[in-house]
Amino acid sequence: MRQITIKYQGECRKCGATLAVGATAIYERRVGIFCPECEPADTEEIRTYRREAADRKADKYEEWAGKRREKASAQLNSYPEVRHDYAFITQPGRIPFRDRMNRADGRAFESLQVAERMEAKADSLRHVRVKGDAEKRWQGLRDLNVERFKVGDVVDTGIYGRGTILKINKKTAKIGNTGTSGTFTINVDLAFLSPVKVEITNCEVK
Ligand SMILES: [Zn+2]
Repeated sequence: MRQITIKYQGECRKCGATLAVGATAIYERRVGIFCPECEPADTEEIRTYRREAADRKADKYEEWAGKRREKASAQLNSYPEVRHDYAFITQPGRIPFRDRMNRADGRAFESLQVAERMEAKADSLRHVRVKGDAEKRWQGLRDLNVERFKVGDVVDTGIYGRGTILKINKKTAKIGNTGTSGTFTINVDLAFLSPVKVEITNCEVK
């Protein structure tokens, strides 16, 4: 959301107050304008406003896609008496009516593809993301790992390979790693830790 100076009188999306020309307002594309005091600050509040706006837009896309589909499938099912007539389809030579039908079918297929893209767009619009969502996901992984790992556990650290947890901090873990270049310690984000996968290299049955 950003600050703008009102050029056309409008209404605050939250309190309904009139925002006169020249007034300072907070704006976000598709969401609307707010008086500075009404700017949504809370993540969930921002999400609600964005979702409403995105849903309106997505509804539009789906409506357009629906109309296209209807029209296209009407074309693709037209003239059923000849559409499945093998002689009509395969007879050599030019049949103007057949040419017209093929061209119209081609356009209908294209229209269906556009409808599909519109539906995909509507779908992605409905997935509203708010700043902080990614961090929340990382924190979820950290919380999980704090639960399941303890000092002394051998874990997979991702890019640093396997190591032993020496200390668990708030967001990171101190990992001791013995590799070809000797023993070293590193601080790794708790979110990156995962259990060591058990590798079965030899399953010989005697
Ligand atoms: Zn307001």
